[in-house]
Amino acid sequence: MQRQKLLINGDRLKQTLEQFADFGQTENNGVTRLSLSEEDCRVRDYFRTCCEELGLTVKVDDMGCMYATLEGIENKPPILIGSHLDSVKKGGRFDGVLGVLTGLEVVRTLVENKIKPQIPITLVNFTNEEGARFEPSMMASGVLSGKFEKAVMLQKVDADGVTFEEALKKSGYEGQIENRLQEGTAFLELHIEQGPILEKEALAIGVVECVVGMACYEIEVTGESDHAGTTPMSMRKDALFATNNLINEIRKHLGSLDEELVFTIGRVNVYPSIHTVIPNKVIFTLEARHKDMEIVNAVKDFIQGLPYLGVNEGCEVKTTKLWDRDTVWFDQELLQHFDQSAQSLGYSNKRMVSGAGHDAQFIASYVPTAMLFVPSINGKSHCEEELTTWEDCEKGVNVVLDTVLALLSK
Ligand SMILES: [Zn+2]
Repeated sequence: MQRQKLLINGDRLKQTLEQFADFGQTENNGVTRLSLSEEDCRVRDYFRTCCEELGLTVKVDDMGCMYATLEGIENKPPILIGSHLDSVKKGGRFDGVLGVLTGLEVVRTLVENKIKPQIPITLVNFTNEEGARFEPSMMASGVLSGKFEKAVMLQKVDADGVTFEEALKKSGYEGQIENRLQEGTAFLELHIEQGPILEKEALAIGVVECVVGMACYEIEVTGESDHAGTTPMSMRKDALFATNNLINEIRKHLGSLDEELVFTIGRVNVYPSIHTVIPNKVIFTLEARHKDMEIVNAVKDFIQGLPYLGVNEGCEVKTTKLWDRDTVWFDQELLQHFDQSAQSLGYSNKRMVSGAGHDAQFIASYVPTAMLFVPSINGKSHCEEELTTWEDCEKGVNVVLDTVLALLSK
């Protein structure tokens, strides 16, 4: 088939993004669309309407994921385009929804140009990507890819004690298991970067090679509580001073491992947390992320060696791995398509990694998958200030369209 040269309609994309931002709009121009909430259901209804008006067939699976399909000439595994319509509390207008509306705009462009694709194109809205109402994140794509057990997920409760199962039934979006995403020619997810790199380097497009591997540990430091006034310094086992030493060592050592390694001590709990009592326990978390699993493994080795560093001030140190994940590499051929499309459209671009998790990382386990980033202004996301320029959104969707056309012409 002859390769078509087409561009999307940027004004229409902007208008559609603005329309979708009305659902759950917050005071400061953000959105709150917790998964399966009333706002989420309304945006789903609207998405369904938009798809049906275009002539797409909309199906829903047993986890509430929506699939809107433009029929192909051949009944082959579809090209999938999507992301999620849910948001965190007081989140932004681009995270997730941009990836779903990318699909809508791509299909609108094909339909208005009277292109019947060789193979079907399916738009996907994954349920509960954010995990903001029901943990964990990427719940539905996790179930689809066999990473999470459905029965366990159904029993997850929100802050009001409502289970995911109850919310799903009430939403009217509990569909059939046979509608699940089972196979695909490709899955393409356009997402905002949620970090500062593209903007800082003045690039329009990030071609995402992988979602980085990570490890998360809990470290427990146990000393002894005594009176803060009567116990000489030399006779103390102060868990917080020991923790301070450990944190210094962690910063020094991990900081020298590799400049792309990122690590965070995000939670520190001090006990008993009384100003006249020497802390007898500190529990803190340490997570680290890097694309190269050798580096992640070096971090793990170091953490496991923390009790033996000799900086513990007589305290006991225990490390527990909470969880970890391997780096997920995206499909080489699709990444090259993205590179070529960005190149031929004249958009500045580079290869990069994703430090954040996305549905694509789970779908990649059984469908050839690739992700694309567009810049986040000031690197902000998961907040009302989240912003990506309309021009960059348009460029991102054009790259996806061009790649879809390339896949269709194969
Ligand atoms: Zn997202």
